[in-house]
Amino acid sequence: MSNSAVFLDRDGTLTRDIGFSHRVEDFALLPGVIEGLEKLKTYKLFIVTNQSGIARGIFSKEDMESYNNKLLHVLSAHNINIERVYFCPHAPEDNCACRKPKPKMIRDARDKYQLDLVSSWVIGDKASDIVLGINSGMKSVFLLTGLGPSQLAVAREKNPSYIAGNLSRAADFLKFSDYDKIVDSKKLVEISIKLKSTGKRIVTLNGTFDILHEGHDYIVSEAKKQGDVLIIAVNSDSSVRQNKGNDRPLNNELSRQKMMANYMEVDYVTVFNETTPVRLLEKIRPDVHVNGSEYGKDCVEASTIKKHGGSIHIVKLLPGLSSTRIIKGELNQ
Ligand SMILES: [Zn+2]
Repeated sequence: MSNSAVFLDRDGTLTRDIGFSHRVEDFALLPGVIEGLEKLKTYKLFIVTNQSGIARGIFSKEDMESYNNKLLHVLSAHNINIERVYFCPHAPEDNCACRKPKPKMIRDARDKYQLDLVSSWVIGDKASDIVLGINSGMKSVFLLTGLGPSQLAVAREKNPSYIAGNLSRAADFLKFSDYDKIVDSKKLVEISIKLKSTGKRIVTLNGTFDILHEGHDYIVSEAKKQGDVLIIAVNSDSSVRQNKGNDRPLNNELSRQKMMANYMEVDYVTVFNETTPVRLLEKIRPDVHVNGSEYGKDCVEASTIKKHGGSIHIVKLLPGLSSTRIIKGELNQ
């Protein structure tokens, strides 16, 4: 994978974006950046950034370099190596060849480092980063850090491969490889029957799992403690639209299944088309079905589970965390 690269935007993707950020005193990394870059070490890492503050006279090239050096220094303390920082110093009206989303900086990197762009990615919090991916033949992940929440509607029209709450979740998406865990519901029922015949305790958990956060990590780990085999049932795209409206989900059902399969606690992931998982649970007959405390013991699944001798386990929600808050830009900034 050594000729695969990840091109990272700087402001709002790696560092806090206060608008024309250039003072070392204002430097701050965003949540998930170190974890994310550590997961991406198998790729060559580059920063590609528009710095029109130079052309506008807001700061000098030297100011930008001091700021970049601060960033590179902090990253190298975590053994994270950035091959090179590519920057455009021009203003939009200069109509230069290099300003993102034009692909010149990417092509320069490709030629210098012999990169394979088809297996490379761009990650950023602006719609122009997604367009950069299109213009240079790379896949992209859009982040809901920085300007992400305000750029989301425009970015979605450009079809990024994934929309992530922060860089660490984006890295999880890039690293996915465990296709064996993703099975259709018919296969899953066969697997469940076999597992139960060998005495395994089966646990189920369902949801949309669109923009993952620590609350999802917590409910998954609590669910796994209830038995031997953890099955995740993901709402299909059409059932999410029925439940939550046409703006959701942000990520399609395959992407959402991949992200759940990434958890080491998860054994199998499937998708279901109805607005509730009752029909699927009727066939799987789990020993324990796990739900978040927002639904409670009398959730729609309860009677189906109990009819077959199973029980409902409720996991308390972690306060303050929600996908909606990430989408609104209230978290991870
Ligand atoms: Zn330029």
